[in-house]
Amino acid sequence: MFSRRDQIKILLMSTSKHDITKRQKQLLNELKRCTDELSGQDLHRKLHNGEKTMGLTTVYRNLQALVKQGLIRSRHLPNGEVLYAPVERDIHHLTCVSCGETTQLKGCPVKTMHIPQKASKEFELLFHTLEYFGLCQNCSQELNA
Ligand SMILES: [Zn+2]
Ligand SMILES: [Zn+2]
Repeated sequence: MFSRRDQIKILLMSTSKHDITKRQKQLLNELKRCTDELSGQDLHRKLHNGEKTMGLTTVYRNLQALVKQGLIRSRHLPNGEVLYAPVERDIHHLTCVSCGETTQLKGCPVKTMHIPQKASKEFELLFHTLEYFGLCQNCSQELNA
């Protein structure tokens, strides 16, 4: 049997999946297929190699629509680049504010964190984001030199 929590999740997933357009589905599939995050440019390039091409503006417009629907999440890098990944992928990054280098964090620090009981009762949690910013080893050595 599904718990109530699972039922809500399934409901959310099935309703939103019906609402998305063919192009959005195409982008979503591309993001799910890739283990890493992708930028709008990456997606544009990937779809360009396929049979169905999509203009860069169309890619960005549809990515925004997917973010709005809570199907993908975006991560803004210090250099202005935006990276996209499916929301269910639980990964976190350390990003250097100086050179923009990002490294994946092993494991999820949020998983062991507890949100206040009251909040968890009033709000159905589906996903979370967490980002760390700082200086990578190279940049911090350069600054201290
Ligand atoms: Zn750096
Ligand atoms: Zn996490």
